[in-house]
Order: sequence, then C-alpha cells, then structure tokens
Amino acid sequence: MIRSMTSKENVEPTPAVSLRPAIAGLPAYVPGASGEDEKIFKLSSNEVPHPPAPAVVEAITKHASGVNRYPHMYGDDLCEELSTHLGLPAEQILVGNGSVSLLELILKAAAGTGDEVVYSWRSFEAYPILVQVTGATSIQVPNTPTGGHDLEAMARAVTDRTKVVMVCTPNNPTSVAATHTEIKNFLHALPADVLVLLDEAYVHFDHSETRVDSLDLLREFPNLIALRTFSKAYGLAGLRAGYALGAAELISSIRSASTPFGLNALAATAATAALNSPEYTHNVVQQVCAERTRVVDELRKQGWEVGDPQGNFYWLPISDPYEFAAEALRRGFTARPFPEGVRITIGEVEANDLALELTGQWAQK
Ligand SMILES: *Cc1c(COP(=O)(O)O)cnc(C)c1O
Repeated sequence: MIRSMTSKENVEPTPAVSLRPAIAGLPAYVPGASGEDEKIFKLSSNEVPHPPAPAVVEAITKHASGVNRYPHMYGDDLCEELSTHLGLPAEQILVGNGSVSLLELILKAAAGTGDEVVYSWRSFEAYPILVQVTGATSIQVPNTPTGGHDLEAMARAVTDRTKVVMVCTPNNPTSVAATHTEIKNFLHALPADVLVLLDEAYVHFDHSETRVDSLDLLREFPNLIALRTFSKAYGLAGLRAGYALGAAELISSIRSASTPFGLNALAATAATAALNSPEYTHNVVQQVCAERTRVVDELRKQGWEVGDPQGNFYWLPISDPYEFAAEALRRGFTARPFPEGVRITIGEVEANDLALELTGQWAQK
C-alpha cells in the first residue's frame, strides 16, 4: 500500500530490531551550545581562536578539486610525515579521523564484555561512553582534591580484569598535568599486559618543566600508546585528524581493525601542511599561553585559588556551574559546565575579558 505522507503526519513505525544492551543504554546525544551565533564567543570546546596556518588553507584549497579520488588507505603520507617530525618509525604511527575515533578503535580492540577499563574521574566526557560501547566496565578513580590523577589509587584499582588504563594529561576538564616521573613510576607499577593510553590532546600547552615525554616512555614501555590530535594547537578541529604512537606490533594489529580510508584526503593534506608550519603553531601556542597567564593572574586577584592550568582552558570548581554557564550565555560566551565545576577555554582577548567579568562577580558571591 502506498500512502502519501506529509511531514506532519509522519508516524514512524517502531523498529523491532534490538541493539546490544550496552548501546541501547547510552544517553542520547545532546549537542552543546553551538556558539554559531556570530555574537557569541565559544569558550566551551577548547578550540584555539586562531584560524589554521595560511599554508594549511592553501593546501586544502589546492586539493579540494581532487576529492573524487580516495585518499591513502591508512593515511600513509601523513604517517611518513609524522615519522620524520617525531623521529619515530612510521610503523609505530596510526592516523585517523580525530584522536577520539582512534581511542574508540583502540578500546574496541583491547576490551570487551567482562573486562575493566580504569581512568580518573572527572576527565574527558567521551571516556565513559566509549568504554560502554565496548561492553567493558568503567572503573572511575576520583581525581585528587586539586583535580589531578590519583595515580597510586589508579594502580591499586587494576585487577586481573583490567585491560586498559587511560591517563589524560593535561586533564580535561581540570587542566592539571601529570609529571614525567609520575607517569614513569605509574607505568613501572602496572602489569606489562595492561594497555596504557596516554591522551595528550593538550600536550602543546603544557609548558611545565616536568612535562611528560611520551616518546621517551614509548622506548621503555611497549604497553603504552600515546594519543595526539590536530584539533587543538594546530587548529584543525573541523577537519578531524589525530594520531596514535605505540609499539609497531600493537599499531599494526589495530590498523588492521580500523576503517579503511579513515583519514580523509583534506585532513591528511591539512595535517601535513600544519606540521610543516611549526612557527605558526608555535605563535598560536605562545599567544594562547600568554593569555592564559594573564587570565590566571586576574583570577587570583579576584580571589580564586587556581593552580597553573596546563591546557588551553581553566577550571573553576564552583558549586553552581550550570547557573554560571547560563549567565555566561546571556553575556555573550559559552562555558562548559560539569557537576563539579565549570571549564572555560582561553579564547580571543575580548572573550577572555568577558569571562573575567563574570568570574569576578562570581568570586563575590
Ligand atoms: C579535544 C580532545 C581530544 C581531541 O579529539 P579529536 O577527536 O582529535 O578532535 C582528545 N582527548 C581529549 C581529552 C580532548 O579534550
């Protein structure tokens, strides 16, 4: 029977198909404040406010007319480029559609029903969802009172069922970084058959002298995989490109399980151009970090007790984060509320000033 249907009487039939319980139990995706309104500054997604390097825009433009062709199956060119830049064999590098998609791939490869994945909490909001999709159980270890990872408690949380431990440094959303020695000791404390995923999305903004050197750690620990992204310091969030570094054997198996052509041609081209514009990236990072210093100094003058944030964002552990975010939006910027506090990205100077006005008033409450 053919029925004509206008959108108004669009009564969808109920699907009889049932998805795996782990999937059906996921919370529905709620898009964040978009900030697409021109007058709203977006300080809720940890993007840099600068456009990508001119060489990146040029490369994308030049390659746009070639997208009728498939890209390399596994982003081979970008792997080679990264290999040169990092001094690591290309066999130890896996590229993909943003580091979150690599994280998903690696978790699926390493953990499943009955397994456990340990990570600090609060951390990146994608972690619990990605773990749930694998069927494994999340073991969340509370952050230290200052928002860092309690690595000793995390090591103690590892059991025979633990397949993966995730470490986020600097941690999103608290902007607290672990030190190289802490991570090294942590790796020594863990069984060699537990995979450790080090999420280094904000590594460029960590200017502490004790910063983790994951390339050094990779030489000693074949159970370590470091994840990095072009979304933050390189300003390519909209294109989706990230990479994972690890032992060749692990990387090779995980690559075999990945979606072919997982890195699109424009993202590959742009990421290569971004790697070859180190001065531009350096300037962006310097500007963001200079603003971060200015903002933190001002926050302290306002009476906030803030540590030294090591990401391109800062964290205020306030008791009314949702009220703060709602007021921020009324004043022209977005902030990211969590139950334990609010995360604010370092953005344009004008946007940071707008945020400081509100934090100043909040400090008086
Ligand atoms: C932004 C971010 C990423 C990057 O994700 P992409 O998929 O590469 O854009 C990864 N991990 C954390 C903790 C982040 O905050």
